[in-house]
Amino acid sequence: MQGLVFDIKRFAVHDGPGIRTTLFLKGCPLNCAWCHNPEGTSPEPQTVTKSISVDGQVFQEEEKVGLNMSVEQVMQELLKEKVFMDCSEGGVTFSGGEPLMQPAFLKSLLVACKKEGLHTAVDTSGYAKLSIIQDIAPYTDLFLYDLKLMDDQAHHHFTTVSNKLILDNLIYLLENRHPLRIRIPVIPEINFNQENTNECLRFLAAHPGNIQGVDLLPYHNMANHKYLRFKKENSLSSLQSLPKSSLMAMKEQFEQAGYETKIGG
Ligand code: SF4
Repeated sequence: MQGLVFDIKRFAVHDGPGIRTTLFLKGCPLNCAWCHNPEGTSPEPQTVTKSISVDGQVFQEEEKVGLNMSVEQVMQELLKEKVFMDCSEGGVTFSGGEPLMQPAFLKSLLVACKKEGLHTAVDTSGYAKLSIIQDIAPYTDLFLYDLKLMDDQAHHHFTTVSNKLILDNLIYLLENRHPLRIRIPVIPEINFNQENTNECLRFLAAHPGNIQGVDLLPYHNMANHKYLRFKKENSLSSLQSLPKSSLMAMKEQFEQAGYETKIGG
C-alpha cells in the first residue's frame, strides 16, 4: 500500500496535544482562498523551480513535491520520534491537503500507529463520504475538524464546495461523541465577523458532543511565496495577516459558551 506524501513536520506543537509528528498527504477536493498549503492541493506529484541565491549569484534548482511512500516507509519515519511523543503525551497527526482523499492509505497508517501505541489525530476539512469517516473513526483518537464558513453560499464561493456534507459529517461525529477539536481559520473580510461567529456557536450548541476545545487560527500571509512558486492564483495576495490580539473578543465568546479556546493550533 502506497500513498502520496508532501511533507513530514517533526516536533509539531500546534497540531494536537503534546509533541507530534505531522504527516501531510497530498491532494484536496477544496480550493480555499486562504490555503496555507497550496503545494498540497493537487493529487499529483509536481515539479517546481526553486531559486537559490549564493554570494549574489542566483541558481535555479528543480524541486519535486510529492513522494510515493509505503506504509512501512512512513511508519519508519514516524517511529523515529516515538520517545518524544510518549513523554509528552503527543502522537501523530495526519494532515494535508485533505488526508481523507487517500482513505485506504490513511486507514492503514492509522491502524499501524495504533498497533505501535501512538495517539492519532486527523486534521480534516470534513469533506468526504460519511462511510470514509466511519471507517477511520475507530482508529482516530482525535479529529481536528475545520469549521470555515457557516453560510453555504459564501462557503462555496471561497472554498469551491458546499458546506452541507461537512456539517452533516460533523453532526455524525458529535452525535457519536467522538473526541474532536473545532478549528476555525479566521480570515479578515471573509469569516471574521459577528454573524459567522454567532452561527458557529449556534450550530455547536445545537449539537453537543465531545468537543475538547476550539482553535482559532488567525490568517497569515506567509504562504504568498508558495503561490508564486506553484504559479497558483492568489486572490488574497494583498490581505494583511491578522494579529492574534484581534481575536481576543472572539476567544472570549467561545469561552463563555463553555469551550476551552486557543488562538493558534
Ligand atoms: S481544505 Fe485545507 S488544504 Fe484544502 S484547500 Fe482548504 S485550506 Fe487548503
